[in-house]
Amino acid sequence: MSVIEEQILEQIKRYDTIIIHRHQRPDPDAFGSQLGLKEILKASFPEKKIYAVGKEVQGLAWINEDDNFMDVIPDATYNKALVIVTDTANAPRVDDQRWPAGLEVIKIDHHPNDEPYGDWQWVKDGHSATSTMIFEFYEKLKDQGLVMTKKAARLLYIGIIGDTGRFMYSIDSETFRVVSELFKYDFDYQEIHHAMATISENAAKLSGYVLQNISILPSGFAYVILTKELLKQFDLKDAGTAFVVPLPSKIDCVKSWAIFEEQDEGNYRVRLRSRTIAINKIANQFEGGGHPMASGAWAQNQGDIDRLINIVDSALSEKQDAEKED
Ligand code: AMP
Repeated sequence: MSVIEEQILEQIKRYDTIIIHRHQRPDPDAFGSQLGLKEILKASFPEKKIYAVGKEVQGLAWINEDDNFMDVIPDATYNKALVIVTDTANAPRVDDQRWPAGLEVIKIDHHPNDEPYGDWQWVKDGHSATSTMIFEFYEKLKDQGLVMTKKAARLLYIGIIGDTGRFMYSIDSETFRVVSELFKYDFDYQEIHHAMATISENAAKLSGYVLQNISILPSGFAYVILTKELLKQFDLKDAGTAFVVPLPSKIDCVKSWAIFEEQDEGNYRVRLRSRTIAINKIANQFEGGGHPMASGAWAQNQGDIDRLINIVDSALSEKQDAEKED
């Protein structure tokens, strides 16, 4: 029995109020791990007050089946609360920065543990999803009072297919073992696949733009810059641009790629992906981080964009040269 999971459950049992956070700009694994854990704890300890906080995201509202998506709580709720943060590598990225006001803080995550914030950390670097960890947490401690529900299983499955790109990346036998256990709860997986696989008409048109306008360097690095004006033309509403991120991976010569998305403030959110070299250390140089093959970062201006392109391009070229010599 792993000690840390038992210690986490011990803390959960000690508190009447538990507040669960996750990262800003949440993806399905952030929601799945946060809301899945909330459902498990609600079912296991009906007498406790369990909250999940953070901004709502219209494009992912389908994930929640309840009327209220995220809980809105006053500052005073933190005075006697245990805080659990899921799927968030760095403290500044926690959505709702009141999290340190909790009496104790537990970090549960599957990113490299570059910033071990909080009083307790359970980090499985490289695990397929934080949602996978939440299922393992339940499974290891079900004899000590943890209860799984259909609703929780659905949320954890959403997290796992989100972070694995519907089983394209970061998969192993453990991922499929957990999924096979989750399937015993008989949730509607087709509804989930449909919601995750379809995009709006305008999003499809932007996808066409990305594939038409992507720059591909001889090293195998590809990038596209999405300006504010351009995004306005496509009128995506709150859908976000996550759907464009996997598109360059469909091009066989592309080895690493970046999507630069201009923000209202004039800086650029960078979504960096790779199937060869690790790019998270490069993301670290641009206020970012993440997994070796999937990271996020920031470019303040065109100079940063050029510098980032150069760094990834050089790293890929060096790898290419080294491979030629072998
Ligand atoms: P994204 O490109 O936003 O889908 O993020 C890809 C991965 O990188 C996710 O695991 C994120 O949690 C992580 N990530 C994104 N942006 C940042 C950032 N600024 N700092 C640290 N990690 C990040």
